[in-house]
Amino acid sequence: MNVHESEKVAGILEEMGYRACLEGEKADIIVFNTCCIRDTAERRALGNIGVVKAEKKENPNLIIAVIGCMPQQEGVAETLKNRYPYVDIVLGTRNIAMLKDEIEKVLKSRSNIKKKSDKKYRCFDRSLPDNYLDIDEATPQSRTSYPNAWVNIIYGCNNFCTYCIVPYVRARELSREMSSVLDEVKKCVEDGYKEITLLGQNVNSYGNDIVDDSVNFANLLKKVDEIEGDFRVRFMTSHPKDLSDEVISVMANSRHICHNLHLPVQAGSNKVLRDMNRRYTREHYLELIAKLRKAMPDIGITTDIMVGFPTETEEDFEETMDLVREVRYSNAFTFIYSPRKGTPAAKMEQIPYAVKQARIEKLIALQNSITKEISNDYIGGVYRVLCEDMAGKHNGMVCGRTESGRLVTFPGENEDIGKFFDIEITEARSASLFCKKKV
Ligand code: SF4
Repeated sequence: MNVHESEKVAGILEEMGYRACLEGEKADIIVFNTCCIRDTAERRALGNIGVVKAEKKENPNLIIAVIGCMPQQEGVAETLKNRYPYVDIVLGTRNIAMLKDEIEKVLKSRSNIKKKSDKKYRCFDRSLPDNYLDIDEATPQSRTSYPNAWVNIIYGCNNFCTYCIVPYVRARELSREMSSVLDEVKKCVEDGYKEITLLGQNVNSYGNDIVDDSVNFANLLKKVDEIEGDFRVRFMTSHPKDLSDEVISVMANSRHICHNLHLPVQAGSNKVLRDMNRRYTREHYLELIAKLRKAMPDIGITTDIMVGFPTETEEDFEETMDLVREVRYSNAFTFIYSPRKGTPAAKMEQIPYAVKQARIEKLIALQNSITKEISNDYIGGVYRVLCEDMAGKHNGMVCGRTESGRLVTFPGENEDIGKFFDIEITEARSASLFCKKKV
């Protein structure tokens, strides 16, 4: 979501005549796109904002903007105003479209903005009714992730998981019109993008806030799948309580939708799931996994798992470990619970950090061994891979993903980026697969 929103910021700036700095050049404007999902992300953002104070001293004309979900938290815009008075612009997640106006205002009234009391920061106001902000369809986007294009389908979240700050900083769910989403996907395909990723905090809620019952995620996927062209579709993130049989069936019978699903489980214990307000049980989740594998035996399933939630006991953690052994995810994004101010879980008694650390190490070791075993099963098979980028330190090698989402490194050149290849896997190293020669 942040990459997608940064592309919007780049689009606005390019339209205003700015361009990205080359190495060694000094910027005229620096925009920090922040995230507050975890404490470390927030502290890093504040640290980086602190670092540019010296730059501003050296060049008082430098414009510094802080955007994203961090300033949407209660009191943070005020803190920025008081502790970082050299920041010129602060915008919340749903105010990004105002960036152009705010920059113009700063440029016009340089003398006024030096008085910190004159600054007015634009973050959405919690005292107003939900969804009062119109969807921004006009902001240009400068895409930077070719051959992948991010397409947002729904904003915000209604779920209020007890550990999560997102509903407080990104407001309630607001779906885009289906026609707008389809037009954007068609345009991306026409422009040569080969992978479309539909985005939302909970894509399965798409359309719940639109009166017309035919506007739902399964129907959106069907319509996207009808678009002609050689391209793939992925989507994230899916909430297990909302993943319907219809969506599974559309995925299984589609031409373009990858057999790949990120389905965050968070915990394997029903007690912890209840305390997290996830509104599904371990049994329901396992039933979904069974349905997905029955409909798509080749599906690659990944997940998010949080350890150290305040009420998680050793027994609860072992239930998570058992679930991981049972599901056998291709990969798992594991996190230590990080208290977020203003959420119910932050007020609960916390688990010592050393306990959380020991648990996550056990979990990572387990998942790594499963990932390695699954990787070995790929050896000798031929898979269709979309070449996405040069492979970093491997000279003459490129990388891409199988339909199931596995990363493959194989021989290739810059001009292969954006093309599909049939690749025989010859070697597996943990999460990465390798091919010495294209088929
Ligand atoms: S579904 Fe839960 S974890 Fe995901 S964004 Fe919404 S509140 Fe946060």
